[in-house]
Amino acid sequence: MTATIIDGKLAAKNLRAQLTESVAKLKADKGVVPGLAVVLVGDDPASKSYVTAKEKACAEIGIYSDDNRLPENSSEEELIGLIQKLNQDSQIHGILVQLPLPRHIDENKVIMAIDPDKDVDGFHPVNVGRMNIGQPCFLPCTPHGIIHLLKINNIETKGKHAVVIGRSNIVGKPVAALLARKAEGGNATVTLCHTATKNLADFTRQADILVVASGRPNTVTADMVKPGAAVIDVGVNRVEDSSYEKGYRLVGDVDFEAVKDVAGWITPVPGGVGPMTITMLLYNTVQSATMKAQC
Ligand code: NAP
Repeated sequence: MTATIIDGKLAAKNLRAQLTESVAKLKADKGVVPGLAVVLVGDDPASKSYVTAKEKACAEIGIYSDDNRLPENSSEEELIGLIQKLNQDSQIHGILVQLPLPRHIDENKVIMAIDPDKDVDGFHPVNVGRMNIGQPCFLPCTPHGIIHLLKINNIETKGKHAVVIGRSNIVGKPVAALLARKAEGGNATVTLCHTATKNLADFTRQADILVVASGRPNTVTADMVKPGAAVIDVGVNRVEDSSYEKGYRLVGDVDFEAVKDVAGWITPVPGGVGPMTITMLLYNTVQSATMKAQC
């Protein structure tokens, strides 16, 4: 068996086309242009490139992006002061603070400072709580993107056993919560695995849907996968490779080459979950502007 490759690039392109139409309609009907404030502290090259990609994606679909760059030695108070200003700015519908922040800044305090109604990353405890009790909220982007990929590939979740590897606040725990909730794209029986899980393969072999977010290449090998399962690889890892211009290539957390011969569906890295993450950030920003326009 060779798995169907889940094309995250195509899914993202299609959803962005729909969002472009929504943005144009919002502007024409209500005179509202969705605005996303992007905040970057410091010069971390990976963070810089993520921020650039997010701003480019905004421009492509007609979202106004407000670029805020602070030096590495900025204080927590300065950053929180900027967030409070953005909370009050009626042109801004979403605030994204690029993580990680420099060590001297408390990430939790910063997330707490964002108005939950502009928290388009879905990281504020208010949105986490709303998601967990089934209230309308901004869903965290990567988990939401995963649920979208399952849906558009007609991968049934109801009554299935979903196994999630990883329990981070941004991927593992929220994707487990979304798969378990009593709603479309949910209703799965969910097992959440982590480094204290004994005999990981005993769980993964039972999975109809296997979401892997460990941040370690080859966490899942072919012998750990049930034939026909849907394997969603969230991992993004750099592996040294001198045949690539940059000196490295990107791999996921799953042994893609071997697992694709066992699984029913699989996401590639790159080109699987990754493109959906930014798209869901755009989705949440448009959702926020739409809600504001209805007030
Ligand atoms: P993280 O905060 O480092 O969490 C990793 C989780 O995996 C932890 O809960 C850890 O368990 C668990 N884990 C690690 N090795 C394991 C193993 N061998 N067996 C079982 N569990 C294991 O990572 P994250 O932020 O969730 O990200 C995970 C991966 O996804 C990373 O590669 C990251 O770059 C990628 N990512 C991609 C996107 C995207 O858009 N494509 C977005 C976000 C993240 P413990 O809790 O016990 O330590």
